[in-house]
Amino acid sequence: MKKIVLATFLLSLSSSLLMGEDKPKPKPLTPGGVWPKGSMERPRPRVVDPPGFSSQETAGQAPSDAVVFFDGTDLSGWKAQKKSDDGNEAAKWKVENGYMEVVRGTGPIQTKDQIEGDAQWHVEWCAPSEVKGNSQGRGNSGVFIGGYPEVQVLDSYQNDTYPDGQASALYSQYPPMVNASRKPGEWQTYDIVVVREKKDESGKVTQPGSITVLHNGIVVHFARETGGKTPSGGLSLQDHGNPVRYRNIWARKINLVDPDSEGTPPPGKAK
Ligand code: MG
Repeated sequence: MKKIVLATFLLSLSSSLLMGEDKPKPKPLTPGGVWPKGSMERPRPRVVDPPGFSSQETAGQAPSDAVVFFDGTDLSGWKAQKKSDDGNEAAKWKVENGYMEVVRGTGPIQTKDQIEGDAQWHVEWCAPSEVKGNSQGRGNSGVFIGGYPEVQVLDSYQNDTYPDGQASALYSQYPPMVNASRKPGEWQTYDIVVVREKKDESGKVTQPGSITVLHNGIVVHFARETGGKTPSGGLSLQDHGNPVRYRNIWARKINLVDPDSEGTPPPGKAK
């Protein structure tokens, strides 16, 4: 009897060894096929101090990894989009009380620096509290990022106009999904994500260029395809003749291709 039990045990042991049942099963991989699920070896996401909240009275602070284009101090990071006849390219908009304001007739201004690749932009703006004009003549300005359509700035609070020209519309293309406008004289926010077109070695598009826009925290465009765009771009602001104000303008470069490559080593491990 003992011999039979021993033989059965050995048989089951050898078959389980043959079947590899005693080996730990490899963990399934996460998307991308590099890191197993739950791996403690995976680089930790870089730590970023998030932005401070803005109130109607005060602009919040930019996140720690942002390029700050306007912090309410001066226009040193900006230039006129067109040089004047004497070759001067200084931005001539007014700066006071922590904001810049369009000065009619001085023309659009643009950032001196650009952000390469995919990026997240933050812009705060305010239409004049004194309501003048209507439709496109009321609080009109605009935000342009590196060849993408104008993200319209307009006082669209109880001010009807053509939908593809109202606040946060991609001008002449798409109206926003909803009208999330605040009252004139109140600060509003645009958070804009631009994604550049990606191609493989054969030239086939693997990811289309797109733009996503949040107006006052509300998604109004989600991944609108924009076709091939330049791989970098600054931001410019429109002079449409109305004294629109801007504050707290910053951008972050984002890495959609390989976020792990920007991570930091696990605790206790050298990079
Ligand atoms: Mg405009």
